[in-house]
Amino acid sequence: MSQSFSEEAFFEKVVNLCKRRGFVFPSAEIYGGFKSTYDFGPLGVALLRNIKNLWWDTIVNKRADVVGIDAAILSSPKIWETSGHLANFTDPLVDCKNCKERFRPEEGITKCPKCSSTDLTQPRAFNLMFKTYVGPVENESNVAYLRPETAQGMFVNFQNVVKTMRLKPPFGIAQIGKSFRNEISPGNFIFRTREFEQMELEYFVPPNQADEWFSYWLKERFKWYVSLGIPESKLRIRHHSKEELAHYSKQTADIEFLFPWGWGELEGIANRTDFDLRAHSNASGKDLTYFDQATNSSYFPFVIEPAAGANRSMMAFLIAAYDEDIINSEKRTVLRLSPDLAPYKVAVLPLSKNAELIKIAKNISESLRKEFACDYDDTQSIGRRYRRQDEIGTPCCVTVDFQTIEDHAVTIRNRDTTDQIRVPIVGLIETLNNHLTKLKNY
Ligand code: ATP
Repeated sequence: MSQSFSEEAFFEKVVNLCKRRGFVFPSAEIYGGFKSTYDFGPLGVALLRNIKNLWWDTIVNKRADVVGIDAAILSSPKIWETSGHLANFTDPLVDCKNCKERFRPEEGITKCPKCSSTDLTQPRAFNLMFKTYVGPVENESNVAYLRPETAQGMFVNFQNVVKTMRLKPPFGIAQIGKSFRNEISPGNFIFRTREFEQMELEYFVPPNQADEWFSYWLKERFKWYVSLGIPESKLRIRHHSKEELAHYSKQTADIEFLFPWGWGELEGIANRTDFDLRAHSNASGKDLTYFDQATNSSYFPFVIEPAAGANRSMMAFLIAAYDEDIINSEKRTVLRLSPDLAPYKVAVLPLSKNAELIKIAKNISESLRKEFACDYDDTQSIGRRYRRQDEIGTPCCVTVDFQTIEDHAVTIRNRDTTDQIRVPIVGLIETLNNHLTKLKNY
C-alpha cells in the first residue's frame, strides 16, 4: 500500500467506503442516527454472512467433534445470577460533578474528557446487561435480560445436547448470534457497539487436557484469520495477566488486530474451567456432569472457549483489505478481500449498452449465478464499472465485448493486478473457479 496519509485519515476512508458502497449505514439515519448503532447494507450483509458461514464451516461442518445450537436471546435472570454476570459483568463509571458527563475512566485519566474538570466521583460499578420485562406487567418477577454472551446457551443446554447427540469429551457446542451490552463508550465505528454478533465455541474437555486444548484452539483460531487474508504482521496474541482475568477464567489470551488506532481484540480464547457447569448444576439442582462409562464415574468437563466477534472481524477484514494504488496514472481504491469473503465473486459487464452484448452478458450472468455470488452491471463507462467492482472487492470481472459475438470468448480481469485474459465462454465456471483458487493463494 502506498499509504501516505495518517492512520486517522485511513480509518475515515474505510468508513466512507462502507457508507458509499452499501456495506454499513448509520441506523435510523433519516432521524439523525441512533446512539452508535449501525445497519448492514446489501454488501455488508453479504460480507458478514460470508464471515459467519466460513466460521461455521470451519468450526462445525468440517469437524466431527462439534455441533451447533441456536439459543434464545431473551433469557431468564437465573442464568445471569448463576453465571456471575449480574454481580460481575460491570464496567467502572465516573461522573463529572461539574458538567454531569458520565464516562469510563481509562487508565491514567484524571480529568473529565468533556469539560476538563477534575471534580469527579469515585468509579462506580455499572452493569452492562440490558434489562427488559416479559409480558405486560413491568415488575421484578417479569424481569428478563438480553444475553450479553451466547456462551450460557451452551452451558444450560449441556445435558440436552450430550444426550441427544451422544457426545463424549472432548467435544464442542457452537453458536452464532446477537449479544447485547450496554457499553459505556461504544465507538470506533462497528468495533464496539451495544448490539453485536458473536461466534462462540464451548469446547468441553477432560480437566487434565484443558491446557493442551487451550493451546490448540489459540493456534487454530490465529490461523483462521491468516487464511482469510489478514497478514500475520497485523495480528498478535496477548495473554491476560491474573488481575485482568474474567471472573470465570483461569487463563485467557486475546487474538488482537492492529487497528488504525492501535491493537484491539478480535477474539478471546479462555479456559473457563468447570465454573459454569458447576455453578448451573448447583443452582438448578440438575446434574450437569458427564458420566464416563470407561471409568464408571462422573465429572464436570473443563471448557475452552474461543469467542469471536463477527462485526469486529468484518471491520478488521475491511481494514486489512483496503488499498489505494495507481493504475494507468489514475488513483484507484481497491478492497483486496479474500475471494472467500468478497460479497461478489464475479461481475459480468457488457462493454457497451449494445442490445446484443447485453443479451449475451445477461445470459452469462444467469448461468454464473448458479455457482457464484454474481453482479451484473451495464450502467456507466467500463472504466467506472471496474472501479466500482475494485472498491467492493470483486475478484474477477467478466467483460463481454464486440469480439465476443464472433469468437464466443470473454475477458476475465483480475482485481489485484488488473491483468486481463481472454477465455472461451464454454467452461467459464471452471475457469473462474481456478482463478479464484489462485487468488486465494496469493
Ligand atoms: P472488550 O474487551 O473489547 O470489551 P471483551 O473481552 O469483553 O471485549 P468477550 O466477552 O471476550 O469480549 O467477547 C468475545 C468477542 O465478542 C470479542 O473478542 C469481540 O470480538 C466481540 N465483542 C465483545 N464486545 C463487543 C462489542 N461491544 N461490540 C462488538 N463486538 C464485541
